[in-house]
Amino acid sequence: MIRSGKGWPNDNRRPGINPPENFGAMSIGYRVKVGSQRSVVFILGKHGEYLVNNEDIEAFDPTTSGPRTDPKICLSCHRLKNLSEFPLNQNNRRGPITRPRCKECYVLESGPPLSNRVKESFKESVGAPDQGDCWQCPVCRKITIANVTANLVVDHDQERRQPRGIICDSCNTGLGRFKNGENHLQNALDYLQECESRN
Ligand SMILES: [Zn+2]
Ligand SMILES: [Zn+2]
Repeated sequence: MIRSGKGWPNDNRRPGINPPENFGAMSIGYRVKVGSQRSVVFILGKHGEYLVNNEDIEAFDPTTSGPRTDPKICLSCHRLKNLSEFPLNQNNRRGPITRPRCKECYVLESGPPLSNRVKESFKESVGAPDQGDCWQCPVCRKITIANVTANLVVDHDQERRQPRGIICDSCNTGLGRFKNGENHLQNALDYLQECESRN
């Protein structure tokens, strides 16, 4: 763990001449190579290697962080943060639980939600089903009763901040998990095909 959150990208930029980059206090990293003064550390939140002064590196057991521990490691920035820096998700049997991403990362990644006005005018423009209508989700193709057996949501493109379509709640969560615009859906298909071809 790098408490100072400072180091030099490991790309031949000379430490001591260039000021260190700040990748975030309490960043979690894995030491790749030990040097006499500095070590090469893979900083998870940056997906890259940094040269870090040895005295800035603290041993930390990542298995001591869990969904309910305080502090805990954020899934996105991979910094150790106080539990109060994570948004509450929901209550389960063992009480409230926080989201895996810290508040800062959560806002950065999900962006601000669409306003109700934008959602309503979009629904009108595409002729969204009324509550109780028989409806088919364009993603999972499941036929359900609108807002009775499945909740309908206005899916939107986070970058362009524009509605894309109406899909079921469960598919909306699924797309979010697969990170919309990135290649994760294709990666998932490739992975499944590769597993299939091994059988
Ligand atoms: Zn974070
Ligand atoms: Zn669906």
